[in-house]
Amino acid sequence: MSLQFYNTLSRRKEEFVPTIPGEVRVYACGPTVYDYFHVGNARAFVVFDTLRRVLERRGYKVTFVQNITDIDDKIINRANKEGRKASDVADEFTAAFRTDLAELGNRPADITPRATEHIPEIIAWVQKLIETQHAYVMEGDVYFAVRSFAAYGKVSGKNIEELEEGARVEVDPRKKDPLDFALWKAAKPGEPSWESPWGPGRPGWHIECSVMSMKYLGESFDIHGGGEDLIFPHHENENAQSEAVTGKPLAKYWLHNGHLKIDGEKMSKSLGNFRVVRDILSVMPRQVLRLFLLSAHYRSPLDFNPENIEAVQKGYEEIWRTLGRLREVLAFPVAADESFDKDVAAFAVGCGQSLARFDQHLDDDLNTAGAVGEIYSFANHIKKMLAQRTFRFSAASQAALTQARLQLMAMNDVFGIGEDMPIKNAEVQALQDQRREARQQKDWAESDRLRKVLEAEGFWVEDMASGAVLVIPAALGIKKDVCERKL
Ligand SMILES: [Zn+2]
Repeated sequence: MSLQFYNTLSRRKEEFVPTIPGEVRVYACGPTVYDYFHVGNARAFVVFDTLRRVLERRGYKVTFVQNITDIDDKIINRANKEGRKASDVADEFTAAFRTDLAELGNRPADITPRATEHIPEIIAWVQKLIETQHAYVMEGDVYFAVRSFAAYGKVSGKNIEELEEGARVEVDPRKKDPLDFALWKAAKPGEPSWESPWGPGRPGWHIECSVMSMKYLGESFDIHGGGEDLIFPHHENENAQSEAVTGKPLAKYWLHNGHLKIDGEKMSKSLGNFRVVRDILSVMPRQVLRLFLLSAHYRSPLDFNPENIEAVQKGYEEIWRTLGRLREVLAFPVAADESFDKDVAAFAVGCGQSLARFDQHLDDDLNTAGAVGEIYSFANHIKKMLAQRTFRFSAASQAALTQARLQLMAMNDVFGIGEDMPIKNAEVQALQDQRREARQQKDWAESDRLRKVLEAEGFWVEDMASGAVLVIPAALGIKKDVCERKL
């Protein structure tokens, strides 16, 4: 199957064909830096980081741009409340965003443009919109004239009559039409501002994304992504103010991820169920959070609750144990028995089939839920192989298991949960050797005692049917209260 995405623009799945063969240009809306980002934001960040990895896996050269909105009402409000400069608030949470994103295991974007560093380009684009009669100046503000762009509504699928009904409720006397939106906002007293042909002011939110995406990716690029709450008005407006000038759609494919709920409820500060990623990661390994965020299809709603987290935690532990078993078994081979090699051949075929299913899921509109399920199945396939009493270490089985381990790590890497298992220290190694010795002597009491010592050190101990004794670093435990914690 070819790579397919559900395109918000056409409201159906389409085959993905980039404009330039072999290259994909992606823009994903980034944070407004007025606070630490929450787990709902994290879903979008992880989904689009995964999209980038999947495209790279497909062999594309990807240019990934994610902006930072560092001038906005929310930033100004917080700065005023705390008696600080807006730029200080923005700098603080820009730094926090970068730190938390790295902690979450996202790769940094190729380019992370900040709105305040693109004011001349934004002013130039607003000028173009005025010159082409798609925008007008009103007392230092500049508005986009929605009715000047016939295709308005194409991203969200809304029609102009419908929007008009809604817009009538709040009539703003500065606008010629209630549907119009601000491209440039005249400075109010005490607000940060930049000089412009229309007087001091600052850019609107939508125009910054249009200008920065086109600057780095060209006037019409391949994929524009974001949360579904951005479809209207943000993405509708981004497209309108770009296409009105260029005559080209801003992006060929628009991808939007679904909402994240907390215990079945919408996350909001007033409900007290706001979950900041920085806090979650203090009690949960990033691998578990990432797998959880990818455990549903990206367009489906997802519920952050203790049961769902625990199920993912168990799944992740299985993957981790499997990697550990493979590492240990490969490090401590048992004498070769080539009669086993016919099973090894069947095992290798199963590995290949699993990988093919994994890629099919990802090709089908980034079905990470199916692909995560396939990782669990693959881990189980390996586990069954290792559990066979006849398991012996011939050259063929060594090759097949080495291959399986690389495959599992590569699959994990698509989700940003690549193996980073700690190396055992000499002390643990000595305990493991002592325990193997005790078992050979059938000293079960000593064997049990050593097991407890190893477990206290944070290791799982497994005695294989083949006689191998495995000591695997335990995955970081999840603290059960993570979902109940009121932050
Ligand atoms: Zn945006």
